[in-house]
Amino acid sequence: MRAFTITRTIVRMLFRGPATIRYPKEPAQIKERSRGHITMDITTCIFCRLCEKNCISQAITVDKEERTWTIDRMRCIICGECVTACPKDCLRIDPRYHPPVTEFLVETLQGPPVPDPVPERETA
Ligand code: SF4
Ligand code: SF4
Repeated sequence: MRAFTITRTIVRMLFRGPATIRYPKEPAQIKERSRGHITMDITTCIFCRLCEKNCISQAITVDKEERTWTIDRMRCIICGECVTACPKDCLRIDPRYHPPVTEFLVETLQGPPVPDPVPERETA
């Protein structure tokens, strides 16, 4: 009985073909809820470091002084915790996958410069 089940499965798989694709030769199958990669809008970031503190993979580094936000894409497991934690809605999960790379991929974004403080009005 067991041999029959295995044989039936093998025959079925022979006709159906493999369940996997030859990515990146063949384009990835992207669904609406696919977890592709994290994107960041640095223009609204306040460098509060909540994303860094909530990242279980320690993939994010925020430098408040330098106004930089860095992600190590090899560490990121796309869990979405940073997206949930961000109070300014800077982070998103893009359903498209990041293009394949052969080296460690660490990306640093530089925040816009801090505007000059408004000079105090001179009193007469
Ligand atoms: S949680 Fe959001 S606002 Fe705070 S540092 Fe991270 S990306 Fe910037
Ligand atoms: S998605 Fe998860 S693992 Fe990736 S940077 Fe955000 S918190 Fe870290």
